[in-house]
Amino acid sequence: MELNKLTISAAAKLLHEKKITSVELTTACLDRIKSLDAKIQACLCVCEAEALAQAAAADKRIAAGETGDLLGIPYLVKDNITVAGIQATAASKILKNYIAPYNATAVERLNAAGAVVLGKTNMDEFGHGASTENSAYQITKNPWDLERVPGGSSGGNGAAVAADMCLFGLSSDTGGSIRQPASFCGVVGLKPSYGRISRHGLMAMTSSTDVVGVISKTVEDAALVLQAIAGQDDFDATASSVAPDDYLKNLDNGVKGLKVGLPAEYFTDSIKSEVRDLIMAQAEILKAAGAEIMNVSLPHTKYSVPAYYIITPCEISSNLARLDGLRYGYFDETAKNLAEIYAKNRGGGFGPEAKRRIMLGTYALSAGYYDAYYKKANKVRQMIALDFAKVFGQVDIILAPTTPTAAFKIGEKVDDPIQMYLEDIFVSSASLAGLPAVVVPAGLINNLPIGVQLIGKKMGEAELLRVAKSLNPEQNFAKANI
Ligand code: GLN
Repeated sequence: MELNKLTISAAAKLLHEKKITSVELTTACLDRIKSLDAKIQACLCVCEAEALAQAAAADKRIAAGETGDLLGIPYLVKDNITVAGIQATAASKILKNYIAPYNATAVERLNAAGAVVLGKTNMDEFGHGASTENSAYQITKNPWDLERVPGGSSGGNGAAVAADMCLFGLSSDTGGSIRQPASFCGVVGLKPSYGRISRHGLMAMTSSTDVVGVISKTVEDAALVLQAIAGQDDFDATASSVAPDDYLKNLDNGVKGLKVGLPAEYFTDSIKSEVRDLIMAQAEILKAAGAEIMNVSLPHTKYSVPAYYIITPCEISSNLARLDGLRYGYFDETAKNLAEIYAKNRGGGFGPEAKRRIMLGTYALSAGYYDAYYKKANKVRQMIALDFAKVFGQVDIILAPTTPTAAFKIGEKVDDPIQMYLEDIFVSSASLAGLPAVVVPAGLINNLPIGVQLIGKKMGEAELLRVAKSLNPEQNFAKANI
C-alpha cells in the first residue's frame, strides 16, 4: 500500500488500529516528495527531521491511547502561513531566508491535534496571481500535464495534494486561490466564510477578504480539518465569535428538499460548452438526490472582477508598506542612505506583479482618487453582497462553475495581467461577499480536471459540505497519472 495516497479518514483509521504508524505515513510522503518534486516543484522547503520528530511524538500519543482524526496526519503549508522555526517567504524575494518566530493559529491548532508539518509550498508571490508563475523561486507544474499551470495562488498546495505528496494542504484564499487550483488539479478546495478561521499568522494580502482554508482529497477530509481549526481567536479580532458547527455530524444526510440556485450570470458564453455540460451534470446529480434546481440571478456579477482589482491593490499597497528589508529579508548592500535603502530593497525585493499592485493601490488610495476608486469599489462590493443576500432568500446553495476552462499552458497568460485577472471571474464574488465556497472535482475534459463550485450562506459550512458530499465527487476522483 502506498500510504501517501491515503485520505485523512482512511489513514486515521489505520493509525488507530495500529496497522500503520505516523512515522511510516510521514516517511511515505517525504519519499514521494523526494522522488517527484524535482519534476513538479510544489515545495519551497521540506523539513524532514522536524516532520519525523512530530510523527514520532504522534505515535507516542496514539500508543498512549489518544484518539483524534488528525493525530499523526502529515500536511503541507502554503508559504504565506507561518510555522515557527521554518521559512515563510510567501514566495517573495523580499522575505528570502525569513524564519517565522511563531505559529499561525491554524497551525497551532493542527499541532495540538497532532498533525505533522512536512514543509512549505510554492505560490504566487504574496498570493497575487492565478497560475503560481508569479513565484520568485520556481514554476510549479500541474501533475495532470507538466506543461500546464496548477492554478494559483495556491498552486504548490494543489499540485502536492493531487500528486499525493501529503494528505492535505493548509492554504489561503483571498479571491480564488484555493478554489481555482483545486479545480485545475482535481482535488477539493474549501474557502470558509470570512472570519470562520483566524487569520493570525496568515500574511495579510487583502485583509478584508483573506481567509485560511483547506485543500484535500475528499470533502470529509476538508470537514475534519475545518473542525480542528475553526473558531474564535484572541489574536484576530475579525475571527467570528459564532461557535463553529459540527461539520461531520450531518455530512451524509443528503439534499432532499434543498433548493439549489444556478445563477444565469455564471452560465454565459464566457465558459466553454464542455465545462458547462460538466457543471450542469452536477446539478442533475443533486436533482436526482431530491434537491430542487432553480434559476436565479446575481446581476452585479460582471462588476466583481473590476471591484476586486481596485480593492485588492489598495489593501495590498497598505499591507506591503511594512516590508523594507531593514530587520529581515532582502537587503541591498549597495544602498548608501535611507531613501536608497527603501528604493533598492523594495525595488529589488518585490516582483513585477507585487509592484504593479502596490502602484495601482497607492494611486487609487491617494487624495482625490479615494472616493472615485476605493470607495466606489466598496459600494459595488455591497451590491454584490446584496445580490447574494436576495438569492439566499430563495435558495439554500448556489451551484456554479469555478473556472471558464481547464488548466492553461505555462506562459500562456503571464504577460497579460488582464487575462490572468479574468481567471477570477467566478471566484471573486464569494470573496467580496465573505461567503463560504467549496470546489469539488466534476470530471475531466481532455484528461484535465474541472471542479464545480458551491457557494453557501455566511457561516453555512456544514450545509455547504453536506451538499458537496452529496455530489459524491469521490467517484470523479480520477488521479493524475504521474
Ligand atoms: N487570482 C487572485 C489574485 O490574483 C487570487 C488571489 C488569492 O486568492 N490569493 O488576486
